[in-house]
Amino acid sequence: MSAIIMDGKQLAAQIRDTLKDEVAEYQNQSVQPGLAVILVGNHPASETYVQAKQKAALAVGIRSYLIRFADNVSQGELLAKIAQLNNDPQVNGILVQLPLPKHIDVQTVIDAIDPEKDVDGFHPLNVGNMQVGKKTLLPCTPFGIVKLLKAYNIPLQGKHAVIVGHSHIVGRPMATLLLNENATVSVCHAYTENLKEMTKMADILIVAVGKKHLITGDMVKPAATVIDVGINREGKRIFGDCDFDSIKDIASHITPVPGGVGPMTIATLLCNTLQAARSQSKQPVLV
Ligand code: NAD
Repeated sequence: MSAIIMDGKQLAAQIRDTLKDEVAEYQNQSVQPGLAVILVGNHPASETYVQAKQKAALAVGIRSYLIRFADNVSQGELLAKIAQLNNDPQVNGILVQLPLPKHIDVQTVIDAIDPEKDVDGFHPLNVGNMQVGKKTLLPCTPFGIVKLLKAYNIPLQGKHAVIVGHSHIVGRPMATLLLNENATVSVCHAYTENLKEMTKMADILIVAVGKKHLITGDMVKPAATVIDVGINREGKRIFGDCDFDSIKDIASHITPVPGGVGPMTIATLLCNTLQAARSQSKQPVLV
């Protein structure tokens, strides 16, 4: 039997519809939420992501500001802009599009963002709050994946989730969010021995590596849920980290690439921006 396709595009559209109403209601009582996006250089994939984020923000009524820097911008200039945005009451969320050029220390930049405006959920304070299970701004991709899993009623408690990839933006926070849902979590990475033995044990397999078709059908447990985070570009085409065709008749659920995790990442960014605006204006957080 063929797996159920987890339609992130459709769920993200539903989330945007709800957000649109909530943003409109918020504006009645306060001001329009604002999202500042900092883009350094003109990396084609980053340009695409930033455009998509701005378009989605506009569609729900969030004002977005794009701040561009050439790729030779100094770290000091970038930090000065972040300090200015931290103090700008029209800006509720600040997002620095990654990757940054090698001469800039990413963690220093993230640390400079006001944690209340950190809509990517990467600031150490928000990471710590997430670890202890406190309500906070959560990293968009893992937060979007949890929303997708819940929308498809995938049981999490007591299930074995295997995550492939241990980055700070996807793999590690994904592990934390699933632990917070009482899943049993294993995290694999480039140095994991016998990857296939690990992935075969997964009730929920989440892959965030950046290697086209690393995971094939023979690495997947029958009836598993497979979440493919990978984005691998070849010309105009995009491929995931999972070989969809060889997995679709083994898994019970699978996300497509594109149209799975990507749209959910953007939808949760908007949720975070409204949440940030509400908490800065001391309104209750609904989303
Ligand atoms: P990263 O490069 O920071 O981390 C890659 C991870 O994969 C590391 O933990 C590394 O140890 C592991 N890895 C590398 N080779 C491996 C192998 N052969 N076997 C097992 N593990 C291996 O990447 P990232 O930022 O976490 O992104 C991962 C992928 O997800 C990329 O394709 C990226 O474009 C994509 N991504 C998509 C979204 C989205 O919204 N869809 C969001 C973020 C990242």
